[in-house]
Amino acid sequence: MSVRNKDLLQIYHILREELGPQYWWPAETAFEVVVGAMLTQQTKWSNVEKAICALREHGLLEPGTLAEADIALIEKLVRCCGFYCQKASRLKGVAAYFIEHPMDAVFSLPADTLRQRMLSLKGVGNETADSIVLYAAHKPSFVIDAYTTRIMKCMGVEGDYMRLKSLFESSLPVDVGIYQEYHALIVEYSKRFCGKKRCDECLLLRQDLCE
Ligand code: SF4
Repeated sequence: MSVRNKDLLQIYHILREELGPQYWWPAETAFEVVVGAMLTQQTKWSNVEKAICALREHGLLEPGTLAEADIALIEKLVRCCGFYCQKASRLKGVAAYFIEHPMDAVFSLPADTLRQRMLSLKGVGNETADSIVLYAAHKPSFVIDAYTTRIMKCMGVEGDYMRLKSLFESSLPVDVGIYQEYHALIVEYSKRFCGKKRCDECLLLRQDLCE
């Protein structure tokens, strides 16, 4: 059984119809998206929400204040996200980068160039870079995460990050809105179905999608 390219667009419509609009990424500013994308590595989103809330209360959701903040304070505020020493230090590093390189200028770069810039920052891997490009800069760069990888595996498609990213991007119109919504829908579907082991009700393993 394997998924065909055209099926990925069909799956998007199935998920959208089932789950409705997701309104991602939940953030008030582009820098908050960056912070959230860094913090969400290897932890639940509910922990990220707590950390973001704490950073906001301390006025640290701006590159200037975050870069200047005491590292011990940042560690305390992001402790709930795990790997807090590493994450605090990386957040300070990213904040310093955006002071030196104003966000508007960086985010006006073409998507591929911006992606490479983000990947050059400490602690930014493929998923974090794509999340920043897609949800903070609003440029087309499909995000692959563990949920996406699991769903694709169920559909008979395996491969590394870049292979799956390329498969989605070659199957979909180049549309920031669709990329943003699709990733959010995959996360929501995974929580509601995959995570709850509702495989017998799976909407994505229909015979007309897979062959
Ligand atoms: S619901 Fe089950 S079968 Fe369907 S994609 Fe998720 S893990 Fe795979």
